[in-house]
Amino acid sequence: MPELPEVETIKKALESLIIGKKIISIDILKPKLIKSDLDCFKNSLIDKTFLKITRHGKYLFFHLSDDLVLINHLRMEGKYQFKHPNDEIESHARIIFHLDDGNALIYRDSRMFGMYYLSDELHYQNLDFIKKVGKEPFFLDENELFNNIKKHKETEIKTVLLNQEVMSGLGNIYVDETLFRSKINPSTKAKFITLEETKVILKNAIEVLNAAILKGGSTIKTYKSIDDVDGHFQTDLLVYGKADEPCPNCAKPLKFMKVNGRGTTYCSRCQKKKGQKFIAITGLYGSGKSKVTQLFEDEKYHIYSSDAIIKELYEEKVVQDKIKILFKIDTIDFAFIRKAIFEDEKLDKKLKNILYPPLKEKILKIFRKHKENVVIEVPLLFDAKMENMFDVIVGVNVLEERRNKFILERDKSLDFKNYYDSHNHFLDRLDECDYIIQNNKDENNLLKEVLKIKKDLDF
Ligand SMILES: [Zn+2]
Repeated sequence: MPELPEVETIKKALESLIIGKKIISIDILKPKLIKSDLDCFKNSLIDKTFLKITRHGKYLFFHLSDDLVLINHLRMEGKYQFKHPNDEIESHARIIFHLDDGNALIYRDSRMFGMYYLSDELHYQNLDFIKKVGKEPFFLDENELFNNIKKHKETEIKTVLLNQEVMSGLGNIYVDETLFRSKINPSTKAKFITLEETKVILKNAIEVLNAAILKGGSTIKTYKSIDDVDGHFQTDLLVYGKADEPCPNCAKPLKFMKVNGRGTTYCSRCQKKKGQKFIAITGLYGSGKSKVTQLFEDEKYHIYSSDAIIKELYEEKVVQDKIKILFKIDTIDFAFIRKAIFEDEKLDKKLKNILYPPLKEKILKIFRKHKENVVIEVPLLFDAKMENMFDVIVGVNVLEERRNKFILERDKSLDFKNYYDSHNHFLDRLDECDYIIQNNKDENNLLKEVLKIKKDLDF
């Protein structure tokens, strides 16, 4: 989808091609793209000359002679082509403006979400859909933006910035870029954003857009603005589309999450979330995760255990039925199931396919239930691919000898250790943890570590 910089680039390119030229005829191949009166559109534009092009947000305004204003929005796939009569017209041509110099301006749109609307100088700015478009960052001051943001207290800041009534011109790419540069977590509720942070957001939004306009807009996927306009800005993006690559600031792998359904890339270390946080405690079997979780509970955090949730799941008939079918058994027999999955990797996978989706559902439900921080002990966080559900990951690490001692004290054997270790992946993913607690000293020391994290989380 073209964003503001691309639309600005197209505007500039078109200015050099069509200003001063007269429309001699129009082929309307897809009338549904025209949202104003069709006959009027066909008839009024003939013999009119393009005088200038302006832009507001992602709307283009073609100002023509006789005070006509032709409004266009490219939406998802709209693009322009400027062609000599002998050139082959490429596919998805929807509207063709034949010009008096023998060339044609062709509007192409494979998905046909774009639109045209014919208005005039007196009325076009008062059209409802135009009035709704907020000011661009270039024309907003921080107090105005701050007031606009504050109207959406409980909404995530990313969603607020995508709202074109709050501020126009930032789409998915540039909101991610702006928030990364502003060190603000995209899922932070708007009510936590300060005036000082609003200033930073505004400054970065302007910088990001200006850099993109300068580079001629970025080209994404099938989008190509106009034949000879190429985008180079994409190479300058810091986070967008770079999940799992090292953060340009701190080198921690960038994370991907959905904010109100929109794919979002961010750094969980550089962009710490304010307000409520969802915290995962993970680590190897027998590392002391439960002890750490307990200490968080002593500090008045809501705590849960994914193992306990899985136990609950085993009580549900739907889950039981699926497991019985999978293992070909009549009653749930844990010893049998455990033995079966230890021996058969495929069965283990299938069992997880039964358990992990409802486990994630239940965790999301817990998140929705609380307004304060929630801590969940999730031993197989990475195996279940749940790392992106949490704002903060706390890893608990322990020396091998000490871990064996813990396990033997509890289980009287090391039988389960190998199975759990082979599915844990914790040691390979240490760099994705926001905090690592070393559980190699006494409990007092463990408490000190937890208090340090608490202090950091409550900032
Ligand atoms: Zn970072």
